[in-house]
Amino acid sequence: MQDTEFYRELLGLPDPWRVREVKLDLAASRVDVWVEEVAGAKWECPECGGKAPVYDHAGERVWRHLNTCQCQTFLHARLPRTQCADHGVKQILAPWSGPGSQFTLLCESWLIDTLQECDVTGVTRLTGTSWDESWGVMAKAVARGQARKKWRIPEYLSIDEKAFAKRHRYETLVCDLKKGTVEYVVEDRKQESLESYYRQFTIEERETVKAVAMDMWDPFIAATRAYIPEAAEKIVFDHFHVTRQVTEAVDKVRRQEHKALLEEGDERLKGTRYLWLANQENVPKWRKEEFAAIRKVNLKTGRAWSIKESLRKFWDYRYAKSALGYFRRWYFWATHSRLTPVIKAAKTLERYLPNIMTYFKHRISNATAEGLNSKIQMVKEMACGFRNREHYRIAIYFHCGGLELYP
Ligand SMILES: [Zn+2]
Repeated sequence: MQDTEFYRELLGLPDPWRVREVKLDLAASRVDVWVEEVAGAKWECPECGGKAPVYDHAGERVWRHLNTCQCQTFLHARLPRTQCADHGVKQILAPWSGPGSQFTLLCESWLIDTLQECDVTGVTRLTGTSWDESWGVMAKAVARGQARKKWRIPEYLSIDEKAFAKRHRYETLVCDLKKGTVEYVVEDRKQESLESYYRQFTIEERETVKAVAMDMWDPFIAATRAYIPEAAEKIVFDHFHVTRQVTEAVDKVRRQEHKALLEEGDERLKGTRYLWLANQENVPKWRKEEFAAIRKVNLKTGRAWSIKESLRKFWDYRYAKSALGYFRRWYFWATHSRLTPVIKAAKTLERYLPNIMTYFKHRISNATAEGLNSKIQMVKEMACGFRNREHYRIAIYFHCGGLELYP
């Protein structure tokens, strides 16, 4: 078999395309393939599909294709331009590539597969593409996926905020809790940030939202009240964020007490921070004994810790009424603890209680979308290679958007 025929079959070129020439440059690990149409090929106007004569040929273009063995492989062609009586001069699209792409469809799909497995810098090393080329494939895949996506507002939403690149700048993430996908990423965590998402939908569409999980963050609450009908019944404060209020109070108590003890030369609380903050069952085995001993001493930190741990049982209730009873008892205990940070945290929870109680109706939290958070975390860790937040946003849509990415 001739090399030109071999490559025509390998490339799966449809009529009237054929391979004119194949050049192998072993020193450069490179194969170049020139493709052209057979003489006298008939073309149709890309606009209307009517018969149209060839007007001329555009200048030669080059597309990177999948490798041939160890050699990078490039397709060369001059695409014909047709002249239609109705639509004038139009360029024929190459069947092996999407419009404007410098890669063949197969090569682009391969790059997308690679981008799903590692960060952009890793892709450039594995594939021999430049950073801008790999990034361009990712950005185009996201644009394509979003254009194909049927825009609808999910029934169960979760609103979360993520710090961007370790600085105190935030992005608001809107997720579909059922699908486990990121629907929307927007700068900041203001009321306007979230409203810009809601505003894309009609009031009839927004009515279909059944519940929204979020942190006790007033701008998100205000945006949801403004745009989601019957929001008071639908907002559910995420139990991780709720518990964190009390965990942070425990940490404040510990810091104050540790400082006071140190002044008396007492180092008992040194190196114990993690023990108090972790869930009890997560304390490592080798520290359990030490932790049990320190809890027996009458320390303020120990009391604060007991209050924190007991709040966790609240979420296990099946019925809202019994959960509410439990909360009332817990609240009494917490507010009579004489531990200022704990009292403050308890009062915060009391203030937000109606939409903490909605948990027992909807049973959702930001963590419901299993696996999504770890995926976002992975994107964040790769984010050190991103030059700006637009890149970060595109990468989130690429990895977490549930989009159809392939050309
Ligand atoms: Zn036409």
